[in-house]
Amino acid sequence: MSPKLAKTRLFVDGDLAPGRRVVLGDGQAHYLGHVMRLGQGDPVALFNGRDGEWLAWVTEAARKGWTVTADACIRPQRREPDIWLAFAPVKKTRTDFLVEKATELGVSRLCPVFTRRTATARVNLARLGAQAKEAAEQCGRLTVPDVASPLELSAFAAAWPAERPLLVADETGGGAPIAEVVADGGEGLGPMGILVGPEGGFDPSELDLLVGLPFVTPVGLGPRVLRAETAALSVLACWQALCGDLREAPPRRRP
Ligand code: SAH
Repeated sequence: MSPKLAKTRLFVDGDLAPGRRVVLGDGQAHYLGHVMRLGQGDPVALFNGRDGEWLAWVTEAARKGWTVTADACIRPQRREPDIWLAFAPVKKTRTDFLVEKATELGVSRLCPVFTRRTATARVNLARLGAQAKEAAEQCGRLTVPDVASPLELSAFAAAWPAERPLLVADETGGGAPIAEVVADGGEGLGPMGILVGPEGGFDPSELDLLVGLPFVTPVGLGPRVLRAETAALSVLACWQALCGDLREAPPRRRP
């Protein structure tokens, strides 16, 4: 059975094993039936972040509920890069964009951080989680990034695991260029973090706090002032290219 059989991928919570039935929620049932126009007997791919990707079949497509049944594992679970992205929430649609693109680029955790100049006072975690899930389904990854509860910068710094290096995008020129900092590639796939400031930039006292932390390395992103989401995606892409899974070829997808 070819993995190409199933064009639609769904993230599910439960375990996946041969013959395992998964009852879909209304949103997923609506998506399969009305958006993808699938029905009983059609193939879908399932993943849960633990058991790899599974070929499954729609075994029930009734008004009262949809069920899909797992058949065979078509891609084993594999280790994915362990890279967290911390960002100051920007406006709603820009945050959606950032979450979608960061998920496509393989981020493993999204950490909203409130800084002094963060323009947005609240984040909708359910919305961020849904964006991350949808992007993960669409881009073919085997996990969905976690979304951490938002923290104020000082609490964020205090809670950060000291063994995880944190690259802080510093627009004030305090850091070496990103390509120099991540150049060696090394083992790759070790834990890593990225922090990007808000539209208004970091307050000087915040940068002082950050650069004083033993796990922080400030990095520069060239001569232009990037918007926060561009900065975040640039650091992520550079790290993924030099240390992460952009060093791998895409899996063969041609028939
Ligand atoms: N308003 C600020 C810019 C903020 S840009 C100013 O005019 O100076 C938003 C965030 O993106 C910054 O806090 C920083 O984390 C990151 N960033 C943008 N451009 C950058 C650059 N050239 N180098 C490093 N970080 C950058």
